[in-house]
Amino acid sequence: MIGGGIAHPKSKQNVWFGALNDRVAASLVMGIKEAGGKVNFLTNNKMNKKLVYSFGGGQADGRADMKNLLGGKGANLAEMASLGIPVPAGFTITTEVCTHFYQNNNAYPTGLETQVKAGISQMEKIMGAKFNDPDNPLLVSVRSGARVSMPGMMDTVLNLGLNPNTIQGLIKKSNNNERFAWDCYRRFVQMYGDVVLGLKPKNKQEQDPFEKIIEEVKDQKGIKEDTQLTTGDLKSIVEQFKAIVRERQAVEIPDDPWEQLWGGIAAVFKSWNTPRAIEYRRIHKISDDWGTATNVQSMVYGNMGADCATGVAFTRDPATGQKQFYGEFLFNAQGEDVVAGTRTPQQINASGRDALPEGNPSKELETLQKIMPALYRQLDNIQTKLESHYQNMQDIEFTIQQGKLWMLQTRNGKRTGRAAIKIAVDMVKERMLDQKAAILRVEPEQLDQLLHRQFDPKAEKNKIAKGLPASPGAAVGKVVFFADEAKKIGKDEKVILVRLETSPEDIGGMAAAQGIVTARGGMTSHAAVVARGMDTPAVVGCGALVIDYEKRQFTAGETLVRENDWISIDGSSGEVMLGQIPTVETQITDEFKTFMQWVDNFRKISVRTNADTPEDVKKALEYGAEGIGLCRTEHMFFGGERIKTVREMILADDEAGRRKALGKLLPMQRQDFIEIFRLMTDKPVTIRLLDPPLHEFLPQTDEDIAAMASEMQVPPEVIRARVSSLHETNPMLGHRGCRLGMTYPEITEMQTQAIMEAACIVKKEGIQVHPEIMVPLIGTVMEIKEQKAIIVRVAEAVTADRGIKVPYLVGTMIEIPRAALLADKIAKEAAFFSFGTNDLTQMCFGYSRDDAGKFLPEYIAKGVLTNDPFQQLDQEGVGQLIKMGIERGRATNPDLKIGICGEHGGDPASVEFCHRIGMNYVSCSPPRVPIARLAAAQAALKENPEP
Ligand code: PEP
Ligand code: MG
Repeated sequence: MIGGGIAHPKSKQNVWFGALNDRVAASLVMGIKEAGGKVNFLTNNKMNKKLVYSFGGGQADGRADMKNLLGGKGANLAEMASLGIPVPAGFTITTEVCTHFYQNNNAYPTGLETQVKAGISQMEKIMGAKFNDPDNPLLVSVRSGARVSMPGMMDTVLNLGLNPNTIQGLIKKSNNNERFAWDCYRRFVQMYGDVVLGLKPKNKQEQDPFEKIIEEVKDQKGIKEDTQLTTGDLKSIVEQFKAIVRERQAVEIPDDPWEQLWGGIAAVFKSWNTPRAIEYRRIHKISDDWGTATNVQSMVYGNMGADCATGVAFTRDPATGQKQFYGEFLFNAQGEDVVAGTRTPQQINASGRDALPEGNPSKELETLQKIMPALYRQLDNIQTKLESHYQNMQDIEFTIQQGKLWMLQTRNGKRTGRAAIKIAVDMVKERMLDQKAAILRVEPEQLDQLLHRQFDPKAEKNKIAKGLPASPGAAVGKVVFFADEAKKIGKDEKVILVRLETSPEDIGGMAAAQGIVTARGGMTSHAAVVARGMDTPAVVGCGALVIDYEKRQFTAGETLVRENDWISIDGSSGEVMLGQIPTVETQITDEFKTFMQWVDNFRKISVRTNADTPEDVKKALEYGAEGIGLCRTEHMFFGGERIKTVREMILADDEAGRRKALGKLLPMQRQDFIEIFRLMTDKPVTIRLLDPPLHEFLPQTDEDIAAMASEMQVPPEVIRARVSSLHETNPMLGHRGCRLGMTYPEITEMQTQAIMEAACIVKKEGIQVHPEIMVPLIGTVMEIKEQKAIIVRVAEAVTADRGIKVPYLVGTMIEIPRAALLADKIAKEAAFFSFGTNDLTQMCFGYSRDDAGKFLPEYIAKGVLTNDPFQQLDQEGVGQLIKMGIERGRATNPDLKIGICGEHGGDPASVEFCHRIGMNYVSCSPPRVPIARLAAAQAALKENPEP
């Protein structure tokens, strides 16, 4: 028997122990039994697999490409050791042991104990120290390490192997630095008591029991800093720690290093399934089945004295991508001190120090390069070696113990979008990477940051709420709650429009605002779609905001924000912050242009844009759009006087009344299209006929109703009655889409006339035009047949009348499941299909696009769904409809042009899917065009790495 798991009666938590020796296991079991706990024993599975991979002394059993088995940290430690880089010796217990542990009621596979023992023996040989040796003890750390990094989510225990005997050896090793040794022991007892034996605060109110003891000792002595604690204080604290563990957990902090080790190993495996680790995996879409590896490694100390240090460095600047070794360190410190920021770190080299802004306290401090030149040279050589070995920018951790350099970690460094591009392009120039590898190195989403103003990363932020990152960019402004006021004030001042939700009527205020925040709505809500189209930063679905329009204020938790108060919003992260946070400009760099040229060479599908104003079109062209995939004509109906004319049309009693109003709209629409055709030159422009539910255009307030009544010279009651008769219970499934053109064919006629007249005018100017007229929301073959007949009739009449030949296409959106099912029949009538995946998702799932924000976050948190299907295409379900639509459509019309124009057209994973299933193009909002271009190139490269 080598181990067990114990449900502790007081904590009600299972306290799991790994392999323990028989005597210890028996005594623990007895103790717990007496206290009424439950005991689980190990199973004895036969597994003669290699479970433990050693590294150190210039050798290793593992390699960098074994991340799935050894975790990222373990695999890279092994790789570094094999490269001859000084790594404290250790071993990795594989992720398979973790999965076995969970599949077998927390039991270890047979053979683990023997292999762990052998691992420790090897460490003893390499490090020249011995487990439990009072003169020269081997001390170890036990750390988690999953195949992808989950920073801070799992547990670690340091200084295992310390006990009242071995501490003497540590004192000797540290040149009689008793305080240092006792502080190590204090940390060990604290971590072991917490992580392994589960001593936590009893409730939210209770202070951490260990911290409380430290605070009490400091109070008694009248001191403030931990550093002022003496050796005597630390000894007393250790005794008090032990006592509280004994009292609360009914177990002793073990002295036996083996028992400590197995306790630590079990705790690390257990920490794979703590609520925070599970939550992190949900958010980052990491499989629960992967498990973590456990790394047992010799301790090295950066805090043993003045000839010790510890630091973190990057092989290139992670913010700018400059090829410059960059890093910070502290003398006589431990790793966490550098990260915690309580002491002012020093720069490792002069160039790093020179680059610091004036006034930065680190500018005054000496560099490692100056103080320890030989060690700095060694570190510099190692970083060069690591970067060229991994062919990627590395994030490294190092420790100097008594003048000897040790590398503790290397991994691919996280970087900003700007740095990612620069590093990728530079590495191609340096012949470290080829273009294909460089393209695959940059996360498409990272391009987002590159094209928008950003908050100064160094600025302090007071975050008060978080919503969905609907439209990227940083915006700062005064809070305004009403669109008309935003429009008025926004002319002279910076405002952020804060609404429960937005409606088409708010468009003016939205356009005038620096940014938009809504409490409701999802990524395809009106606010989100419009904001993205306008490239205005927006945070939507920010449920934490309680908005009181009457009092003109909102609260976010405890914080009250009034009209005119300044807030800052980050549309790339979804954060809402108090005050004015400084922003920094982002510019399209030469590296970005070069990179995007490479991207376009490998891409197989085109990238178009969803745009309906000349400003959007210009921006999209700058970002590399190759056409318009969706021009939503209704957005052209909202501006200025137009809304009144649109209302006049809707409110008209008969066809004659509608035609009169449409007659006024015609020249306005024609002018819009002229501008767009001129900008797009010879690129295709897909224009969608009117789509939204009519009620969206109707006047709602008494004021608007009165204004309409006087405009149409009828009593307000008439308008009110008409508005009420147009009311729909389910407008999204009501009188909208092609149903408008079917019941009011004159709308289709007017829009076709405007499009074709504009096309003729622009063609006459010598510009090629390629209008593609798109009928929305088709569900039956008759709908496309009839609408097409109208379009062709009007188009032919216009071109004949003007004597100009304009090639044009008539196609449809596929956004109702029935249209996907009948795609073979519909394709006979359509020259192109554009998948409207916003509606298709809505109708396939039966989730209202505008209301899904109420339950989707919970669905995602509970794992019912892994993603928001309105953001990332549901390939499993909605994807089947799309595949079927393409197959059936192409079966009867092999020339069918196929694209996507739902929001998914700018989502990298969805773009990859569109590429795989044979679409011709994707279409997305202007700022997502570069992202879609990169995602399309990556999809092509992944599918065929050697084209
Ligand atoms: C869609 O449904 O995917 C689409 C693009 O149309 P809209 O979002 O305008 O309904
Ligand atoms: Mg739609």
